[in-house]
Amino acid sequence: MKEYSLEDIGHIVRPKLGDEIPLTLFRILRIIGMRNILGDTSGATLYMMGKRVGNMLGAKDLSDATEKIKTLKIGIPEFQFIDEDHIVVRLFECITCAGFTYTGEMFCDMESGIIAGLMETIYSKKAKSTQTKSWSVGYNYCEFEIFLY
Ligand SMILES: [Zn+2]
Repeated sequence: MKEYSLEDIGHIVRPKLGDEIPLTLFRILRIIGMRNILGDTSGATLYMMGKRVGNMLGAKDLSDATEKIKTLKIGIPEFQFIDEDHIVVRLFECITCAGFTYTGEMFCDMESGIIAGLMETIYSKKAKSTQTKSWSVGYNYCEFEIFLY
């Protein structure tokens, strides 16, 4: 199987439709499609996928990571350092869960992975991210707890 780079996939020729898609389509693929096909392993798989994406994006520092997350419209992140290896990230307008009604479960695993992947590249350490808040459990933002090791 061939591996494609960001450069390979970034060349888009859609003169009438442009390079954006409705968020509803993304959520159909992400929340309905992937979860149905991957079942119980969807969380771990989406997290690993996100981490790879976060690594590929290659952020130089925190403000670069913020810009990349905003440019890709994944959300609007706010970073809070608890100590040098412990970061709490609030993600406003999360691509996956913003506006979601209460379901009692959290499923922003891909976003969690993307943020962990970005932190790994910036700090040259491994990162483990855990989602702690989401629209789907009653908040109006998403939150992730990140530990660098
Ligand atoms: Zn979310």
